Amino acid sequence: MKNSKNLILWLELLFAVLSFWVLQNVSLYPEHAMTALRIYILGMIVLTVSLVVSVRYYQSQHSTIDVDKLCEMVQRIDVPAFIWSDDLSVMFANSAMDELLGITGEEPDQDNAVLLSGFFHSISVSPKEAGETMSRQTLRTGLLAPDGRKRHIAWTTSTLKKNNTASLLFSIGFETTELENAKMELTKYAQELLTSQTRYDLSMKLSGVGFLLAETVREEYYVSEEAMKFLGISQNCMTFQEFRKKIHQDDRIKFDDYLVKIRSLPDTDTRISRPKNLEIRLWTKGQYVWYAYQYHENLRNKDGKPIIGGALIDITNEKRKDARIKNLAFNDEVTGIFNRNKLMHEGAKLYKMAVEAETQGYHYRYWVIVLDIDRFHIINDSCGYEKGDKILKAFAHILCEYTANSGLVARISADNFVLILQRYDDDDGEPAGTIEQIRKSLAELAKEDFAGLSLSCSAGFASMPTPDSNDFKEVLEHAEFALAVGKGELSYLMGYDAKMHQEILYQGEMEKSLSEAIENHYLQLYYQPKVDIHTEKIIGAEALIRWIQPDGTMISPNVFIPIAEKAGMISAISHFVLCEACEQTAKWQKMGLSRIVMSINFASGDFYQANVCEVIRNQLDKFGLESKYLELELTERLALGDINYTVQQMNALREMGILLAMDDFGTGYSSLSYIQLLPLTLLKLDRSFIIEIETDKVAQEIVSAVIKIAKSMEMETIAEGVEYQPQAEILKKMGCDYIQGYLYGKPMPPEEFQKRLEADT
Ligand code: C2E
Ligand code: MG
Ligand code: MG
Repeated sequence: MKNSKNLILWLELLFAVLSFWVLQNVSLYPEHAMTALRIYILGMIVLTVSLVVSVRYYQSQHSTIDVDKLCEMVQRIDVPAFIWSDDLSVMFANSAMDELLGITGEEPDQDNAVLLSGFFHSISVSPKEAGETMSRQTLRTGLLAPDGRKRHIAWTTSTLKKNNTASLLFSIGFETTELENAKMELTKYAQELLTSQTRYDLSMKLSGVGFLLAETVREEYYVSEEAMKFLGISQNCMTFQEFRKKIHQDDRIKFDDYLVKIRSLPDTDTRISRPKNLEIRLWTKGQYVWYAYQYHENLRNKDGKPIIGGALIDITNEKRKDARIKNLAFNDEVTGIFNRNKLMHEGAKLYKMAVEAETQGYHYRYWVIVLDIDRFHIINDSCGYEKGDKILKAFAHILCEYTANSGLVARISADNFVLILQRYDDDDGEPAGTIEQIRKSLAELAKEDFAGLSLSCSAGFASMPTPDSNDFKEVLEHAEFALAVGKGELSYLMGYDAKMHQEILYQGEMEKSLSEAIENHYLQLYYQPKVDIHTEKIIGAEALIRWIQPDGTMISPNVFIPIAEKAGMISAISHFVLCEACEQTAKWQKMGLSRIVMSINFASGDFYQANVCEVIRNQLDKFGLESKYLELELTERLALGDINYTVQQMNALREMGILLAMDDFGTGYSSLSYIQLLPLTLLKLDRSFIIEIETDKVAQEIVSAVIKIAKSMEMETIAEGVEYQPQAEILKKMGCDYIQGYLYGKPMPPEEFQKRLEADT
């Protein structure tokens, strides 16, 4: 620096001497003035250039930066900052930097430099490299502060001066600790979210459940990944209208209803609603599939905005079961054709249509024909039910041929079928030709498929509509009467006429024949054991009536009970059964045999009698039998009556201590929700379920579900018609309580049952 100053002084002196010399030459030697001037100008140029060069050089050597001033300024900054040279010869850190490095005020400057070099050590580069890097880009460091906290600082560095040996730098640090912590927390949260999201996605995938969420303000759904898959869409949102297009046409009205409801929801309602259910068919993977959309109407998102959302669950299987149950309600299990239930429904429609047509001058008339396979109960008993079922199926098949174009066919009880055929004006007045053909087909069938059997059928028929009838039910009753009369007269075909009705229903005559039958012991009770599914011990018996004629042939109750019901004789029969069954049970108890529960079948007519409790009380008292040993088996036909009266009557019987069972459950009209209203103690699962229980998964599921529901309603369950051990095993696993069926004994005369009871006791 000193040398440069001297150089300028020398140059200034040279400039003065040169000027003096030129002036002297101009005054003393004017002829040389020009040459002197030239030399002077040249000298001035050289001088100026030298001056500029030396000033530049001086400036480069002696920056205008005042380091002390800078240090003062840095000291005033309240974030960590320091001035340093990358050879560590200059080093100044402000107090915020001191604090970061753990330098106390008392320590000498030397330590400051040592500690700062520690700073470079901790960012694991040499100060020289650090200088280069830091002046090029922001350097982020994580430093362990003296209090043990990790502090994150982003350093910005600018070069103040640079020469061959060292650079002077100024670094200022901005603390990013909070930002880094937040970032770390966010990463952790995102990871956790990812894990739980993965778990959630997996469970959604496994369960096949999808989600739909919608904010009330926007007309679109957020669609979960699983739902995207089955809806076949690639984006996770879908407008209501797009979703609507995926819905089966017949279900869109339900969806529109739902839209109206959710659009009118108040924003302010924060109560958690019960989940709602919307069952719709959605077009997924090339077909319509049943889904239940179980949604909540007033969920809230994280901002508190109302949202509607829920799960879309595939309910194809449930729907199949429903269809199966519906099928059971309308179709006959054995033959697959309509059952009585469906016949009554369809018959009523036809009746109404025929009456309306008549008033408009058209003729739509029908034959209602009731057919019965002759001696079917004997075939059934001797050849077995399997063969019996085959005959029923084949017969149904024959009848179906006659209804291919119009009319219908149904099975209404064991071997009773109904055929409704259109009656044309050119008819000869009777469906005799058709019946004749049916009988021929049946005879041929017997020859081909049931060798050795002679099969024939009888029929009774009535016309519809006629002035004698007010509805389809009456027409059917007329046809059944005609059949009964025909059988009585050994005629296979009989048409109904009004006179016939009067004759047959002649009360005194009927009562006489009934009381004769009772007196002559033509009516007898057989007993079928009911056993505990675990111990296989007899816990009860069902009394089943038999009409044994003088020639020894037995008439099935399936045949005469319906006739007795219609003829108003059923209460006399029921009275006989009640009396006989109570007496027998009390007798066995007095003999010291196991105390069993006696079940009797009670027709709905008996049940609705106003004095039913009194009648039963009298019989129990007469034989000294406690009411808890008597059980009434009621049929699902009760479901057709007045529910309030039914419940009232049942409650009165329960208060007496009498047990109440629902017979043939699953075949008729009632649903589980209906059953729930009744104070029943036992549910008898119909034989049709048991037949299939080994092979049919749906039957298994229905039986299992019914047992569970019955249990939850504190009802016991018994399975009817158990014929094989594996059936019993399955039922045992399902939690069924009791069993009745050929596996443990057919219905038997009292003497035989007594022997069983003695062995059991
Ligand atoms: P139900 O009350 O359901 O009686 C069960 C029927 O199933 C009985 O037919 C019984 O013999 C039959 N059964 C029991 N276990 C098996 C089995 O393992 N396999 C097969 N294939 N069948 C089995 P039954 O005695 O011919 O009675 C038929 C129906 O007649 C009864 O059905 C009941 O509704 C009615 N009934 C019987 N006795 C009376 C009565 O005293 N009063 C009234 N009102 N109706 C009665
Ligand atoms: Mg029964
Ligand atoms: Mg039954």
